[in-house]
Amino acid sequence: MRLSRYFLPTLKDNPAEAQIVSHRLMLRAGLIRQEAAGIYAWLPLGLRVLKRIERIVREEMDRAGAVEILMPTLQLADLWRESGRYEAYGPEMLRLRDRHERELLYGPTNEEMVTEIVRAGVASWRDLPRNLYQIQWKFRDEQRPRFGVMRGREFLMKDGYSFDLDEDAARRSYRRMFVAYLRTFARMGIRAIPMRAETGPIGGDLSHEFIVLAATGESDVYCDRRVLDLAIPAADVDYDGDLEPILRAWTSLYAATSDVHDAARYEAEVPEADRLRTRGIEVGQVFYFGTRYSEPMRAVVTLPDGSARRLHGGSYGIGVSRLVGAIVEASHDEAGIVWPAAVAPFDVGIVDAKAGDAATATACAEIAARLEANGLEVLLDDTDARAGAKFANMDLIGLPWQVVVGPRGLAAGTVELKHRASGERRELPLDEVVATLVEAVGR
Ligand code: ATP
Ligand code: MG
Repeated sequence: MRLSRYFLPTLKDNPAEAQIVSHRLMLRAGLIRQEAAGIYAWLPLGLRVLKRIERIVREEMDRAGAVEILMPTLQLADLWRESGRYEAYGPEMLRLRDRHERELLYGPTNEEMVTEIVRAGVASWRDLPRNLYQIQWKFRDEQRPRFGVMRGREFLMKDGYSFDLDEDAARRSYRRMFVAYLRTFARMGIRAIPMRAETGPIGGDLSHEFIVLAATGESDVYCDRRVLDLAIPAADVDYDGDLEPILRAWTSLYAATSDVHDAARYEAEVPEADRLRTRGIEVGQVFYFGTRYSEPMRAVVTLPDGSARRLHGGSYGIGVSRLVGAIVEASHDEAGIVWPAAVAPFDVGIVDAKAGDAATATACAEIAARLEANGLEVLLDDTDARAGAKFANMDLIGLPWQVVVGPRGLAAGTVELKHRASGERRELPLDEVVATLVEAVGR
């Protein structure tokens, strides 16, 4: 992609309305634009990050046996009356009417609708277990939308729902999602720690929020520092096997949100040196809710003896758009964003350091073409801006690798390769830069 034909409206100055660094950097790097309070347009660079995050989520959900669907954003109020949540939900729900005066709502979550779909499509115990997920926009009329996409009103969520015959089977489904979440966030280059969370009226021990530690996070959390050193399950983890040992390893070290924090237990279980009381960003949640929806909505399967059994459900959310902010919050420096390779909008940025020079322009185009032929995604800054402005811009948008092509190096047959995260620079012959990047990015 040539920057001269792209759409990358970066800002030189810090936008006054942005209180935290990820919001500032996302606006400055031209990833998003606010259209109304808590409602954002995703500009090309931001959209690329969102898509890369979505892709990792999809791959890990599919690997764990979940099946993708897509439900509408608009739902009938009557569906929510079946579960009793329509009146209960409160002012966060955006309620509307169509031309026939039918009451609709913009979905803040989809337990009712997916229960309705499964109720119609699953009849026998043989059809279980099932796990359906979608990646779809949600609307919650948050009282205080803030921190950019971190607490938006319209936001993109992966929401998944499991259906099982009984609590034991539902616990197995829960463990699959728990393990899939560990892998999902690790693949994005961040560490999200599962912490015990509020289960509400359902009770029990089956709810965890996945939290990225950050001083600017909105959740108060308490954990055992040693949880930061636990190993992430490998890609070949057997989702049909016994996942209990993995769960046990991750849940036997203390980690809890303030809602369920137990000070006595914390002090008894965690040596003083390992106590970590901090703040965090909730990027996902897994939750077992039993027959909360199947009961009022009469979602049942028939057992071998012909009797009916209510489905046991769980729901599993990931804040896809919030993650973009959370990743920037976790990975930046004074110069700008430092994208983890797996979610970067492009793999490589090429800077033509001398606009108007035919030799540098030709070399840039050649390097870009060869990288692209190897499947790498490249942004070539071929604009006529000054070299210094181009360097600052490249640092701001945070692509993992930069290649700088200047007339002096080129005369000697070399270009400069810069690694954004470490700042390390090397002079390399043209051929070698291509080989080095193909190897490093490995796409
Ligand atoms: P919060 O406590 O932050 O309001 P929640 O617990 O109400 O979130 P869930 O219903 O668990 O949210 O939704 C699943 C995921 O969706 C959350 O873990 C979070 O990552 C994301 N999410 C929730 N609300 C928002 C929002 N207003 N803006 C962006 N992402 C959100
Ligand atoms: Mg939650």
